Amino acid sequence: MDLTNPKMFLQDIPTPEPETPFRPRQPYRFSTLCATVENPSQKDQYGSSSVPIYQTATFKGVNGQYDYTRSGNPTRSHLEHHLAKISSATHAFAVSSGMAALDTILRMLKPGDEVIAGDDLYGGTNRILAYLKTHGGVTVHHVDTTKPDTLLPYINPEKTAMVLLESPTNPLLKIVDLARIAADIKERAPNAVIVVDNTMMSPYLQRPLEHGADIVYDSATKYLSGHHDLMAGVITCNRDDLAKQMGFVINAAGNALTPFDCFLLLRGSKTLAIRMDRQQATSMLVAQMLDHLGFKVHYPGLAEHPNRDVHERIADGYGAVLSFTTGDKALSERIVGATRLWGISVSFGCVNSLISMPCVMSHASIDPATRAARGLPEDLIRLCVGIEDPADLLDDLERALLEAGAITLTAGGDSHQCYVRTIPSEGTAISRAVQKLAFNGSAEYTTEHNDDREWFVSAPGKVILFGEHAVVHGVTAVAASVDLRCYGVTTPRHDGKVSVHFIDIDSFTQEWKVDDLPWDAVTPVRVGDFHPDTLDHKLVDAITTRALSPEVLAKPSARQACIAFLYMYMIMAHGGRRPSFNFSARATLPVGAGLGSSASFSACAATALLLLYSRIQLPAQPAPTTEGHVHVSHGGRRAIPPALAEEVNRWAFVSEKILHGNPSGVDNSVSVFGGALSYTRPGFGRKAGMIPIQGFKSLRFLLTDSRVPRNTKQLVAGVAAMKEQEPEFVNGLLSAIQYISDEAQRALADPQLSRQTLLSALSALIDENHGYLVKLGVSHPSLEAIRSKTASPQYALSTKLTGAGGGGCAVTLVPDDLSESSLRELMAALSGDSFVPYLTSVGGSGLGILSPYNQPQLLATPPESPCESEARAGAVESLSDTFAGKATADLTAWADNLGRWLFV
Ligand code: PLP
Repeated sequence: MDLTNPKMFLQDIPTPEPETPFRPRQPYRFSTLCATVENPSQKDQYGSSSVPIYQTATFKGVNGQYDYTRSGNPTRSHLEHHLAKISSATHAFAVSSGMAALDTILRMLKPGDEVIAGDDLYGGTNRILAYLKTHGGVTVHHVDTTKPDTLLPYINPEKTAMVLLESPTNPLLKIVDLARIAADIKERAPNAVIVVDNTMMSPYLQRPLEHGADIVYDSATKYLSGHHDLMAGVITCNRDDLAKQMGFVINAAGNALTPFDCFLLLRGSKTLAIRMDRQQATSMLVAQMLDHLGFKVHYPGLAEHPNRDVHERIADGYGAVLSFTTGDKALSERIVGATRLWGISVSFGCVNSLISMPCVMSHASIDPATRAARGLPEDLIRLCVGIEDPADLLDDLERALLEAGAITLTAGGDSHQCYVRTIPSEGTAISRAVQKLAFNGSAEYTTEHNDDREWFVSAPGKVILFGEHAVVHGVTAVAASVDLRCYGVTTPRHDGKVSVHFIDIDSFTQEWKVDDLPWDAVTPVRVGDFHPDTLDHKLVDAITTRALSPEVLAKPSARQACIAFLYMYMIMAHGGRRPSFNFSARATLPVGAGLGSSASFSACAATALLLLYSRIQLPAQPAPTTEGHVHVSHGGRRAIPPALAEEVNRWAFVSEKILHGNPSGVDNSVSVFGGALSYTRPGFGRKAGMIPIQGFKSLRFLLTDSRVPRNTKQLVAGVAAMKEQEPEFVNGLLSAIQYISDEAQRALADPQLSRQTLLSALSALIDENHGYLVKLGVSHPSLEAIRSKTASPQYALSTKLTGAGGGGCAVTLVPDDLSESSLRELMAALSGDSFVPYLTSVGGSGLGILSPYNQPQLLATPPESPCESEARAGAVESLSDTFAGKATADLTAWADNLGRWLFV
């Protein structure tokens, strides 16, 4: 054979015919048919491996096979041949969308014809049928096609011209017995054309022509193409008469698929089987996970799914779309919003996984009453599974469920802990009781214990490493926890009073008679409910005007802390319980220096109150660990369950709103969860929200408080004004800072990067970011002085200002190899210039609670009665007494040595 002669070579290509007289072969299986695009009657002149795109509207000459692309095009012919082959069809047509396919089919109807259709069809199908009713004189009967007998009364041998079916339906995955209905119709109205929308299954999983359908159509926008990069529709059939009519319509109306889209669809269809295999295997895992958690799941693969046996008779798989309900529309919205890997989008069939709420998205055009009549739950969430790693998809969904409060971790020792569904708060009294039981599980500490003992809690401050100021304009900021912490201790009182002691705010103390608080202004947030998005301003006003004296009102920091504390104390009260206790707080981090002191206070106060009210429960007797206080690994086992941390974080955010007005939520999240995260504000076209930086390595930083009071609001407003005046300049700086944030996140999370490379990359980014902040006009001479001191040749360290301005702090990266003597010398030099340096490690543990287990000697034994309390005063030193008396420098070591801390 002359391989240099292309023509010769062409003729020798074996076409994939299954049989030879010498060695009988099995017909090719589906995935082979998919991957093999061969049309023996349409050989390519050059033997191209991939079908070329004939991007031409016209063809030269007369009497050729093609003249005008609306009527025919070689690329489309190849595609249609291929589609017919994989659909058990003799004819296939490729048109411009799934709806164009249906439109082509429906044009065969005449006025006076009757159509029987399902009552749970795709919304667009309903829309076009409704149009035909009003404009085409066609009668449409919508019936429940899941029960074949319901069609019988509507079958009219003269009038029934078409039957339109879908199985499984979208989004409730209802199963229709296509074979049985086809047989019923053929028997009673032989001229009726049976049409099936096969989009949910694709020809790989279901070929309705094999079960009696006359015409099958697919929205090839979905699985057939698989990548959400084109719109297309496919019609297949075996009847020449119908094919002729539809071919006429396509040529007449001009809705055939363009050559380029034909090419894309052909390319996508080659991987249909392999994509579907992966997608449906993962779908099964997702369905099982949700089912085990206790959700109502719609997926034909689950044993209890109605008509599963029918589906198994007709189809070869269960598909990759499933849906589930949560019992609460708002909860569903939160879940959808909390996923990261699952993209929020309509449609399905893509290699990427999607999540949506049909009632607010794809089916929103159907009015709510009709939705209700069709049993489409408003809280339904639809999942369309892609080809990502199943573990990542499950993990992302689980996190979203947890974050939204749909599931919670049961108490009961590490080996017994598991996630269970949280029954939505609107549930009945019984469901609430069940929820509480599920939540409390075998927790040791119940209502009786919780307000009768001392609780010791702590939470870290934060440092913004990159992206401050720019974050206001949609740039991603990177924040990490510091090992400077706020601490809080609650001590029971037995005199009907509640009190606070804020040691770092000039040792401020204040007490209130519990019954004198403005309880008439409270609308309590019930256990299991979330605090509404907005603060209860009626309660804030009542506390401010009726519970705070003029002296307290005159001290802004103490005043705000009192309001936040009392607000949470009052709004959390339930069932008549109003515990009497003192809450003392103090911090090892500078207050008001922009290092998240208010967020760490908020996290401590929220945790203490949640514990006292038994709104959170610690797991019973966690197994011992050797984790220390400060450098707790975030990849390791978590002693505080995520559900508990989520609950604390929600309340810490409430407290932050009181302290700050309009917080981003970054500070409290870092304070509760520790480690590091990136944060992007919503509304700027970038994916918004907070994303933990996994694998963040603990780093040492010098935080230097310049002690120059700075006004955050003014600085932020200054940048905004500059942006308005010089948009190009400022936008350029913002893009550059975004690049820095992206690079920093990448480097911090990269397990391959050596420590040395990481540190030098971060140093460069710190210097660069600071330079841009200077250009934005938010630095000041003291910060520059700190910068030049740390940058001087004997240290050569990188420093940037940190935070939006508040406390005027600088952050300096301390390399591992900087000698202790140089570090001490530098700190002394900074102190000598009246700055306050703190050596801290960044990226450590979040919220901590001193374990209440097995260490009663460390905690004050509650007195039996108020009299005994008085009698014992002074005899037993309570935790809070020692706490208040410790020097700030000794606080952390003392706290660490008290016993085992449980950390997030
Ligand atoms: N049929 C079903 C089941 C669908 O889900 C869709 C689209 O979502 C269509 C038909 C319409 O397809 P297209 O959007 O490609 O016109």
